[in-house]
Amino acid sequence: MNVDLTGIQIAVLGGDDRELVFIPKLAEMGAVVKVVGFGAHQIVEPSILCDSPEKAVEGADAVIMPMPGTDARGVIRAVYSEKKLVFDESLAEKLSGTPVFIGVAKPYLKKLCQKQNVPLIEIAEMDEIAVFNSIPTAEGAIQIAMQETPFTIHKSHCFVLGYGRVGITLARTLKNLGAHTYVAARSERDLARIYEQCLEPVSFDCLEKAISRADIVFNTVPSFVLTRKLLQRLQKHCLIIDLASAPGGTDFKSAEEMGIKAILAPGLPGKVAPETAGNFLAEVLPKLIVKYTT
Ligand code: NAP
Repeated sequence: MNVDLTGIQIAVLGGDDRELVFIPKLAEMGAVVKVVGFGAHQIVEPSILCDSPEKAVEGADAVIMPMPGTDARGVIRAVYSEKKLVFDESLAEKLSGTPVFIGVAKPYLKKLCQKQNVPLIEIAEMDEIAVFNSIPTAEGAIQIAMQETPFTIHKSHCFVLGYGRVGITLARTLKNLGAHTYVAARSERDLARIYEQCLEPVSFDCLEKAISRADIVFNTVPSFVLTRKLLQRLQKHCLIIDLASAPGGTDFKSAEEMGIKAILAPGLPGKVAPETAGNFLAEVLPKLIVKYTT
């Protein structure tokens, strides 16, 4: 925590428990932090609680918005706010030239920021966030698997589709729990690495044949991979946990018709480990703020 934010004013617009973790840390680093979307008992001095986004952004050098961002009409996710917080055109106008950090931005927000010349920095896909977040994501996925199955992870046949940031962490964790862990990837490089890690590599071309062994399938591929054809190969007791961003990579309708339980599980870091996820943000955001404001 050696980033100096002295002289930098930051507006935090909405959020959840993750913001409650990093707001005091930004203040400790010297930033003036103005916050909206929380209760008076949640925000301690020297941070300043405001009653509207407009007031919070007055004089701001940078703005932080929640990881899930806004809904399609600009309503900011603010779980502790009694009032609706909206990112609208007049707010965007006030922020011309001011960097706005957000997990993922909806098209509405992207369009507005582009129009008003607001630099919008999406951080969820940055490696420094995504690799950290893969830890609570993997734990959360395994928590769901444990809750939803009558058998242990140990010795069960677990398939992980995709060997990116989430897939790597999840496959390693499953293997450490004693699962027979199969990983589907499309590049020869990934398949070789999967083998090197003593996991079972499966190319997507061979997945249809191999997947009939699965007790649990975890999907991390943000594309339509668990098709009806593939689902037909699954055992009836097989559980699917789809971690990919909405709408996931599973034919959920077909799964339901076939009596196969398939769960779309978004936003796990904020749900299962908000404190850890908030600490990750407290590590990464200050560096990004310095980079974009100086
Ligand atoms: P990533 O590092 O980009 O990994 C994605 C993986 O999917 C890579 O192995 C990639 O292979 C593979 N892939 C992509 N398109 C494919 C296709 N058409 N066919 C086969 N393989 C394909 O992403 P990540 O950080 O692991 O995140 C994975 C997903 O989980 C994203 O949608 C992300 O938003 C989501 N996520 C969800 C949570 C949650 O709480 N549920 C938390 C974090 C992330 P190549 O390398 O060959 O392209």
